[in-house]
Amino acid sequence: MRIPFIGGNWKMNLSLDTAVQFVKEIKDQLPPADKVETAIAASPLFLESMLQNNQDSPLFVTAENCFYKDEGAYTGEVSPKALSQMGIQYVIVGHSERRNYFNETNDIINKKVHAVIRNHMKPIICCDETMGRFENGDHFSWVVNQVTAALHGVDETDAEDIVIAYEPSWAIGTGHSASTEEAEEGCYLIRQTLADIYSDETADKIRILYGGSVTQENIAALMKEPDIDGVLAGKASLNPKEFVKLANYQ
Ligand code: PGA
Repeated sequence: MRIPFIGGNWKMNLSLDTAVQFVKEIKDQLPPADKVETAIAASPLFLESMLQNNQDSPLFVTAENCFYKDEGAYTGEVSPKALSQMGIQYVIVGHSERRNYFNETNDIINKKVHAVIRNHMKPIICCDETMGRFENGDHFSWVVNQVTAALHGVDETDAEDIVIAYEPSWAIGTGHSASTEEAEEGCYLIRQTLADIYSDETADKIRILYGGSVTQENIAALMKEPDIDGVLAGKASLNPKEFVKLANYQ
């Protein structure tokens, strides 16, 4: 059985003080990690302080991004090795904002996936699509291509621990979520792709999330869909009370 995964992605929001206050406040209100995994991805500037204040909490303090080299002369980059040494377990890779504003290609994202795995962490791989492609019906091949490219060279055992997020760009930050049917269709397609790359058995083990304007109002319906194992929420994760409601969607 796949353990549901409720993730928040703060992006470049909040402050060190509010980040620390957030983890302290939600600590006792989250489900146990063997029932529902909860994660908040935050700026690398906040992670150490969040971790210090997150002891005895089921929350996975998570990174929003990292570089694909472990160390070296890469000014300003976030080392996956350093994240791992801090105790980070999940890293978001290939978010639509990274692809679109920072020109991350499928090739770069694949290298980052390998870097995260090499450093004993788990990637949360995001795939996006645009409204234009969605309306033209080209979005399926686009998503299949992104998943296939991100997992190039990743072996089946490592793949079991990966999380994939289906996040149409037109639903991110717009207040216009995909319908439950559209979200399920995207997640189902990703599961079929995983079955083609690996096997049905492995595809059944991998958690697939939906992201894009998830709220406490729409989460329950999304989570009822057979191929949606969780969500990645941006705006709704910025408020501790709202995030607690997402985590306790059941
Ligand atoms: P949103 O962001 O929930 O604010 O739409 C989702 C995301 O970018 O992961």
